[in-house]
Amino acid sequence: LAPVDMSQVVETCVRLVRAGPELSHVEVDFTLEPGLLARADAGPLSQIVINLLLNAAQAMKGQGRVRVSTRREGSEALLAVEDTGPGIPPEVMPRLFEPFFTTKEGKGTGLGLAVSLHLTQSMGGRLTAENVQGSGARFTLHLPAT
Ligand code: ADP
Ligand code: MG
Repeated sequence: LAPVDMSQVVETCVRLVRAGPELSHVEVDFTLEPGLLARADAGPLSQIVINLLLNAAQAMKGQGRVRVSTRREGSEALLAVEDTGPGIPPEVMPRLFEPFFTTKEGKGTGLGLAVSLHLTQSMGGRLTAENVQGSGARFTLHLPAT
């Protein structure tokens, strides 16, 4: 693990996902803390961020707004992906990170969040999910800051 610039990872991942169909009609807002460094591995970190962006876009059926933010909180570097989709139903919440759990019949593998959680934990971090009052879902990645 080495210092990774969070803004740079966000920008690279948004650019990559934007090249595909999912995010093409989605507005992406950034609130990035300049120079924020996490102790991480850029490859797995990018994989996690891409999974979160694709899920956000899919939840909104390609229409809406995604807000990506980074900030330091104590000893942690946080990266949040928030969408304006329908949010996470209460019965789905406890199963989000379960391998092969998907609500996208025939279209989802149910592996995105399970793999993302595994990668997060292997870097000593945490991945949390919540609903935002009056909006959609928010996933927050917590990694050790440098
Ligand atoms: P997949 O995307 O293949 O379904 P994931 O592991 O990425 O698998 O996600 C599992 C499930 O979690 C999804 O099928 C969906 O029900 C729920 N989910 C993930 N992200 C969101 C989101 N941003 N808003 C609402 N539900 C979500
Ligand atoms: Mg997914």
